[in-house]
Amino acid sequence: MSIVRVALDIPLSTLFDYTVSEVVAVGQRVIVPFGRRLMVGVVMECVATTDMAPERIKSVQQVLRDSAPLSVGLLDLLRFCSDYYRYPIGQTVLSALPTRLRSDKPVISRAILSYRLSASGAALDLDALPKRKVVQRRILAKLAEQPCNLAQLKNLSATAGKQLKALVAEGWVEQFSLSPSPSPACGGGEQKHTFDNAHTLTGEQQQAVDAVRAARGYACFLLHGVTGSGKTEVYVHLMHEVLLRGGQVLLLVPEINLTPQLEQYFRSRFSDVSLISLHSGLSEGERLHNWQQAQAGTAQVVLGTRLAVFAELPGLALIIVDEEHDSSFKQQDGLRYSARDVAIFRANQRGVAIVLGSATPSLESYHNAQSGRYRMLKLTGRALAEARLPAMRCVNINQTVMHHGISENLLREIGQRIARKEQSLLFINRRGYAPVLMCTGCGWLSGCKNCAGKMVLHLNDQRLRCHHCGYQLHVPHACPSCGNADLHPVGSGTQRVESVLQERFPEARILRVDRDSTRNKRAWQAMREQIHANEVDILVGTQMLAKGHDFPALTLVGVLNPDSALYSSDFRAAEKLFAQLVQVAGRAGRADKPGEVLIQTAFPDHPLFHALQTHDFEGWAASQLAERQMAGFPPFIYQAMLRAEGKNETEVYAFLNLARAAAVEMRYAVETLGVVPAALPRRANHIRAQLLIQSAKRKDLQQFLRAWQPLLDAIPSRQIRWSLDIDPLEF
Ligand code: ADP
Ligand code: ZN
Ligand code: ZN
Repeated sequence: MSIVRVALDIPLSTLFDYTVSEVVAVGQRVIVPFGRRLMVGVVMECVATTDMAPERIKSVQQVLRDSAPLSVGLLDLLRFCSDYYRYPIGQTVLSALPTRLRSDKPVISRAILSYRLSASGAALDLDALPKRKVVQRRILAKLAEQPCNLAQLKNLSATAGKQLKALVAEGWVEQFSLSPSPSPACGGGEQKHTFDNAHTLTGEQQQAVDAVRAARGYACFLLHGVTGSGKTEVYVHLMHEVLLRGGQVLLLVPEINLTPQLEQYFRSRFSDVSLISLHSGLSEGERLHNWQQAQAGTAQVVLGTRLAVFAELPGLALIIVDEEHDSSFKQQDGLRYSARDVAIFRANQRGVAIVLGSATPSLESYHNAQSGRYRMLKLTGRALAEARLPAMRCVNINQTVMHHGISENLLREIGQRIARKEQSLLFINRRGYAPVLMCTGCGWLSGCKNCAGKMVLHLNDQRLRCHHCGYQLHVPHACPSCGNADLHPVGSGTQRVESVLQERFPEARILRVDRDSTRNKRAWQAMREQIHANEVDILVGTQMLAKGHDFPALTLVGVLNPDSALYSSDFRAAEKLFAQLVQVAGRAGRADKPGEVLIQTAFPDHPLFHALQTHDFEGWAASQLAERQMAGFPPFIYQAMLRAEGKNETEVYAFLNLARAAAVEMRYAVETLGVVPAALPRRANHIRAQLLIQSAKRKDLQQFLRAWQPLLDAIPSRQIRWSLDIDPLEF
């Protein structure tokens, strides 16, 4: 009899002890009784003794040997995440696994099938096959060279799966199983693959590749390259290098919607390479299958969204985080991790290089690169000599005729594009920025008198509140600066965009693209095809459209309402806006036609627009960092947010006030701010509020949180849901 300590999906920060009569490895999945249920858990430790009374300890019901145990390295990574993000260890471990591995039903894992020619297939004369069966011929030719798995065959064509079935049905191809082995198939050995070395690297690209290649062990690089500078090309060359050595590459991207395109792109660059994707858009079966291929080491490239950072990768040799600044790397519920930050920890843990790529790095990463903690790699020019950065212009909305949120100037430009059969994109900034009050007379803004924050307008009780420090006052009847009574929330009113467009351009084909319309993979694919076929004249969309899509006929981008982000109560709003506008501008004029960007704003002289127009990220970042340092905001300070919500306002605030009192009493080297309403103070009939803790040192904050959390657990809070968010991005 030995004792195992098991991680279970239970909201308690502890492991659970069980006896077991057979030999079990750390990382093995087990089924154990818990209360009156049976649950799946993961063995975290094998120990000799337990504090539990012998009559209370139960025994493991079953050891699941249907999948290889999790590696000690992955368990260490999860332990770190549980500790750093203050999330129960069991829930951390279980939430990192594909759903199928969390269920107590035995996983019927598909063996990783490989395909080879049958005797009759080998005897086949390819030239005798009908000409139109292009894909089938390609598959047969490939298999004549060597057996392949499905992922490799998919590099040949998107329909390879279907055609392969047909070939199997014909009896020309047979499948055989290569069961996932716990020991990696890769690592060490020299591997050959076909690499489509399409471009000679530019000098800057070559320098970047050389720098990463020269790194021994852990090193973190920030690849800062303007849009179109060829960052992807740098990734491809680095990957090639790693694949030659037989290593695995983890490539993290922000959006699910981008993975099929990227998948196809990388497949086309590396035929023969086994590339799999991991994201929440996969079916449970696919996700398990892909995860197991990564675990077995048969997947050479893992392309995925944030959850892929927890994939088993026995041969990991390089991590790339594309669009590292993107906030979708941060999980907003459950284990609130930043996949970028976890990836950096992981690279360090494994002693491998990591490359963070972006045209607009996060100020955190940029600051780290400047201070020498990361190494800066720059691509300053566009890779294609003829490609120009788009021209950017501001339209002053106070000095032009506006039609429900669209300026006359913009409408005129759109009309010209329609006449030239080119496309326009209207970009609506729809992030739920909390409204800030502005005077239309003198430009006064409702700033907080105590801190660098902006006061947020709360219409229901006619108050202005600072979400940073908690200071509040009644909405003034007139501007405190000039006496004007015309006070308005900044930047609102784009609801009627589509009807204005329809009225002005009755013949135009207008397509709305937002998160809802792109959630469905097929619908989004169909839309992209429509856009590519130039069957759309005007695209109206939110940040979804800003990312990585190449629409060759698109020559005009109109930015409708950026202003709310300029003077937002969220100190990161301007940083996000800059990144979004650079990205959305990158959509215009990628092909031979020059692009133009029109920004509608009441503040055409704002430094952000100035920096955008002169493509001056450095200058912008420097001024932002100086502001952040003055105001005491990240990256010069580390933050943790305690959020609470519940039906009863008094209880929510009582909980947070008790939490605050406890924090103050502890006298750690942290600053405890005021209890304030959340940016969205009421959601689905729940009152939401929050409390910010910050410290100049990450370590001090971590020490404080470790001591504070048990006190939070002890506050009676039956009707309340609360959570800790470390390094929060949303305010
Ligand atoms: P980024 O990811 O930085 O926005 P991409 O990698 O997509 O840029 O490159 C932009 C365009 O330039 C692509 O069409 C790419 O094929 C091309 N390109 C990249 N590197 C080179 C190079 N060294 N020579 C020629 N073309 C290149
Ligand atoms: Zn005023
Ligand atoms: Zn304040």
